[in-house]
Amino acid sequence: MSNKYAPPAEWIDGQKNVPGFWKGSYEDVLEVIGSVKKGRVTLGTTSAGGRDIYMVEYGKQGDLRRTATFNSATCVNRRDTDCYANKKGDDIKPCLMLMGCIHGLEFEGTVSLLNLISLLETGRDFLGDEHPELVQAAEKLHLIIIPMVNPDGRCRFPYRSIVGAPFLTFRYYAQGTWKNGELCHHPACKAVHPIKEASDFLGCYFNDDGVNIQQEGVLTMSNEARFLFETAHRFAPDILVNMHGGSDTAGGLLDTSLAPQKLRNEILGLDQRVCTAFAKEGYKYVITSKYNSTDVNFKPQGLTGMLHLCCGGLSMTYESNQGVYVGPDRPDSQVLNHEQIYRTHQLLYAEVFRYTCEIFEKRRQGK
Ligand SMILES: [Zn+2]
Repeated sequence: MSNKYAPPAEWIDGQKNVPGFWKGSYEDVLEVIGSVKKGRVTLGTTSAGGRDIYMVEYGKQGDLRRTATFNSATCVNRRDTDCYANKKGDDIKPCLMLMGCIHGLEFEGTVSLLNLISLLETGRDFLGDEHPELVQAAEKLHLIIIPMVNPDGRCRFPYRSIVGAPFLTFRYYAQGTWKNGELCHHPACKAVHPIKEASDFLGCYFNDDGVNIQQEGVLTMSNEARFLFETAHRFAPDILVNMHGGSDTAGGLLDTSLAPQKLRNEILGLDQRVCTAFAKEGYKYVITSKYNSTDVNFKPQGLTGMLHLCCGGLSMTYESNQGVYVGPDRPDSQVLNHEQIYRTHQLLYAEVFRYTCEIFEKRRQGK
């Protein structure tokens, strides 16, 4: 790599102190997937670089009695899309779809999802802790876990953890460099898509074709996004969480302007609960103002928005803290360590598990 952005030797040396529970590499995913016995493993697709992308399910889903796609069903009745997914049967469970590592350097979600799989398989996470309340809440769900959507990007980062890295090293690995060797900053990196031919070092953001899976739209350019769309369509999740990270950011949920205001208000309701849970333990959390879809600057939030359009579920992006210090001018900044980052995900999951059941019951009652 260019020496200009190389991490300092002491940071590289510190990698040996990354705690053992912090499993977030592609090899870790393969190892954990190989150990699954209670869940059902599916090889969903392969990445642009030929790497396997797996899905693990817990809880069996019943018959949704489907006769139409979601979009077709909305033309019959926008409030009641039973001909796409009839959830009134006794065999139907609340459905939650969790996706990790859409951007290859943002694998905090992968770490927490692999720990969750361990918890559901063995009763203990990789710290050796039991979380019976989380297990019991998960047992009420049809839980779909895709721990690593973008293994190509993750494999371009040669370390176990990004926590504590200098910001420019972080930026180098996250978005890469242009042909002239300058950093592809954010959001300027999004001006070229796919970016492969324009980049010198292809950042971990992208798959091996230079596609930013998060910015996929109607012209699906990757197997990875296609698999997520097919999965959302197939199972009609009540809630979908697309997991990301943002350096020293406070936690937060981003919705999509492509969803109706009613659903966006429901995401706001979840936001408030997660915010309260974070505040109780001293973690920063930002309730992002939800963009008004009549504003010309509205953001469809790419993949998150398209996933909503596939299935009608509450689709949201979660931004995790990554333990990377950006600078002194960031008011909501907090730099968490590995244990703290993992803990914030546990708090998120506890609230999302509960909320999925509530939304499911509301829908059954036609609300
Ligand atoms: Zn991201």
